[in-house]
Amino acid sequence: MTPSTDRNDVLFERAKRVIPGGVNSPVRAFRAVGGTPRFVRRAQGAHFWDATGKRYVDYIGSWGPMILGHGHPAVLDAVQKAAVDGFSYGAPTEREIELAEEILKFVPSMEMVRLVSSGTEAGMSALRLARGATGRSKIIKFEGCYHGHADALLVKAGSGLATFGNPTSAGVPAEVVQHTLVLEYNSVQQLEEAFALHGPDLACVMIEPIAGNMNFVRASVPFMKRCHELCRQHGALLVFDEVMTGFRVALGGAQSVYARLIPGFNPDLTVLGKVIGGGMPLAAFGGPRAVMEQLAPLGPVYQAGTLSGNPVATACGLATLREIAKPGFYEALGQKTRGLMAGLKSAAEAQGIAFCADSEGGMFGFFLLTELPQNYATVMKTEGAKFNRLFHGLLDRGIYIAPALYEAGFVSAAHSEEDIAATLAAAREVFKTLR
Ligand SMILES: *Cc1c(COP(=O)(O)O)cnc(C)c1O
Repeated sequence: MTPSTDRNDVLFERAKRVIPGGVNSPVRAFRAVGGTPRFVRRAQGAHFWDATGKRYVDYIGSWGPMILGHGHPAVLDAVQKAAVDGFSYGAPTEREIELAEEILKFVPSMEMVRLVSSGTEAGMSALRLARGATGRSKIIKFEGCYHGHADALLVKAGSGLATFGNPTSAGVPAEVVQHTLVLEYNSVQQLEEAFALHGPDLACVMIEPIAGNMNFVRASVPFMKRCHELCRQHGALLVFDEVMTGFRVALGGAQSVYARLIPGFNPDLTVLGKVIGGGMPLAAFGGPRAVMEQLAPLGPVYQAGTLSGNPVATACGLATLREIAKPGFYEALGQKTRGLMAGLKSAAEAQGIAFCADSEGGMFGFFLLTELPQNYATVMKTEGAKFNRLFHGLLDRGIYIAPALYEAGFVSAAHSEEDIAATLAAAREVFKTLR
């Protein structure tokens, strides 16, 4: 066989010799959909170009951060100016205060915030803080929610609610997840049973309020209300992992969506990432002052980071937040995203293909199913082979959606009417081949 001369294939072969699987994060390897990952050469606005020079409309936006599109002039300017003044100091800066103040202004459930470098780090630290602040060990998470790759959170359900989880990764000792209880998303019944059994020992309930790591699944209002009530009743903390939804579904995150629907609603701790860094490694966690003051150097819960609050990353995040805080930003983004979903739905239905979709702000999910799923098991009922044909059909036509059916998608402010129209035209062609 003669080796491929496609530059993506050449790079993938070379990458696989020096990087496990050729990628630095597994989903990039296209294992779910097959084929060769596209190696990105550069990006601008709503597009990126691969190693062959082919252009794609980008619906992953670095898995969420690029809400303004790539290379926004105000953000680029802020980053370039910051870089000239030094990359990292290991000492505090005024810009960290500015970014903290800006975040707290938009997320009123948080009185204090600490900056870190990745969502994984933020989630892991919030978990430690919840345990430290409550003096309890046990935690609840939900099947299909992803909170980064910390040991205690790489876990799947055990057999029944009295038993705790099993690791989903080699290298995680069973002892490390023995305090993690995994429940079905949106099951009020399981939640009530779990609190009845373990209430006094529960440090927290950790949840993606709108789950974006099992495609797009909203927590139902009655379920979220019950999470909140049971946490309050039993002295457990409600931890909202808004790494994906924060500043993506609304300026106040998913919690602002639920606060509108449930009177008096607010989470105890919030975990942020992705958009707040605008594409740079930056994440955060925060909550009430009394809880946050349990962190070192004030309190006994240890947490630290060489690059935390990095001056270039905070410049990027701050410039991004200033743009998205402008009036009308989320209305326009939400409308565009809803339009895209409606267009895809009518394209699919014109071919008699089962299709449903949901979105909030600039985050969306669609399913080759007749009804929106409420939990992970139902999401996974999607016919994988059909999704893969859709994915590759769109990719061939220059439309890049997430390379797995269990991932959400993202629209940016840079996506134009033309981009959306091109996407729908491609989808109409591909749906014809899926019948
Ligand atoms: C992306 C993501 C994380 C992990 O963030 P990283 O920066 O990749 O470590 C955690 N939680 C949620 C909900 C995410 O979407």
